Amino acid sequence: MTQYPTCTYIKTNGAICESPAMKDNELCYYHGRDKMRVANFLQARACKCDDYMNGFKQLQESVNPEFMESLDIPALDDGVSIQVALTNVVRAICSDHITDKKAGLALYGIQLAVSNLPNMQLAVAENANLAMEDPKPIYPFWDAPGYEAHLAKRGMRMLRQADIKVTRADEREEREKMERTLKNVR
Ligand SMILES: [Zn+2]
Repeated sequence: MTQYPTCTYIKTNGAICESPAMKDNELCYYHGRDKMRVANFLQARACKCDDYMNGFKQLQESVNPEFMESLDIPALDDGVSIQVALTNVVRAICSDHITDKKAGLALYGIQLAVSNLPNMQLAVAENANLAMEDPKPIYPFWDAPGYEAHLAKRGMRMLRQADIKVTRADEREEREKMERTLKNVR
């Protein structure tokens, strides 16, 4: 019997992970971080479907880099890191948080990392100690104070820059929606 709490994550094949769980956590380092990343995906989806971003494609796309940064995709050092990067790029593609062009470049970069893998000498030894705490947790994407107001202002700036082009009825409607939001978040 193990003397320490183990990870309760159920893998795709039905097996329970059972790696050592982190302190005060029911998951191991790997699955703890994956859970935080999935939470950020849900948060990004929720914020893009939020009243003032919904239907405003340009503003939605403008948060993509910040969202992808929030995932803290690892350096492509080894097979596991590459798998984590690939998983999250595929999730980002399916959830529309990355453009097709960038997705293509990212997947190509991952492919290069795979082909260079035999040259990497950073493999962790079998008996390496596993992390019991996450020294650098993945923070929620959307919680920074004032971020909503910041986004509303960014949206207004974009609309102002596109002023001359705002002629179609639906674009006018978007603008009015942003103006209403900006009033509310002030
Ligand atoms: Zn686990």
